[in-house]
Amino acid sequence: MAIDGRGIDLHAHTTASDGSLSPVELIELAAEKKLAALGVTDHDTLAALPEAAAAAQRCGVELVPGIELNVEHPGRFHLLGYLFRPDDAGFNARLRYLQDFRASRNVRMVDRMQQYGLPISLAEVEAEAGGDMIGRPHMALALIRKGIVQTVQEAFDRFLADGGPCDIPKEKVTPAEGIRLIRDAGGVPVVAHPVTLGLEADKLEVELRSLRETGLGGLECYYSQHTPEQEGMFLELARKLDLVPTGGSDFHGASKPHVHLGVVRNNGPVDYRALDELKRACTE
Ligand code: AMP
Ligand code: FE
Ligand code: FE
Ligand code: ZN
Repeated sequence: MAIDGRGIDLHAHTTASDGSLSPVELIELAAEKKLAALGVTDHDTLAALPEAAAAAQRCGVELVPGIELNVEHPGRFHLLGYLFRPDDAGFNARLRYLQDFRASRNVRMVDRMQQYGLPISLAEVEAEAGGDMIGRPHMALALIRKGIVQTVQEAFDRFLADGGPCDIPKEKVTPAEGIRLIRDAGGVPVVAHPVTLGLEADKLEVELRSLRETGLGGLECYYSQHTPEQEGMFLELARKLDLVPTGGSDFHGASKPHVHLGVVRNNGPVDYRALDELKRACTE
């Protein structure tokens, strides 16, 4: 906990990606929950950070500038970055490219759905988006609204899943590039929810060890959806490999209603010490 006993949450999303609260609403909620610090970690974008910083100052919450990058991997690899310079030119240029790629992919996927006989338009997909980022979940919702499928899962299973007939792969960074981008901007790269890498303990250790050599700084050990056993295993790995053990809820708001801000482990937040350690790891 911070000196005053308040805890932190280092993983939350806003409307800049797929969260349902605006940056200001998210910071206000963090203040209401009495969090000392909040990591704002939108997918592949820093767009929320300026507004979040202003609100954080007003509300007495410490904003931890963050991001969650989609990384090329056979499993689901999300790389968190913390405490980088939000205005770093190289980082922003690469993120802009990823966002432009997503926009053109949306156009091409709608074309592909039309060729596949699905009467759907880009405007209909855009109308389903609550925030700034548009992707496959909104295509699924548009297909439901048209009565073409009954559920989001059916839309993925029949058309949109990776390798499905209407899917076009997203451009992602490689693990080494993601780590380099965050380090070059002065931040600390952290593997998010390691359970989704889908690796057995020994394979995970080998992989994390090699990522550590390319500059990985932390491991998200505390996570709202980790079991106590998983948490214990990841903590041990972090200790062994000298990675900072971080933690967060992965709060999204309405699109993940079972996840609550500041509820990470034992029904509470993460100790402030994790942030102290991250700050030390910035200069490694
Ligand atoms: P996008 O960023 O446009 O590729 O969309 C990624 C999102 O689609 C993920 O965050 C999931 O919510 C959803 N998604 C991806 N694959 C599947 C799947 N096979 N079944 C259900 N939802 C999926
Ligand atoms: Fe998300
Ligand atoms: Fe994630
Ligand atoms: Zn997340």
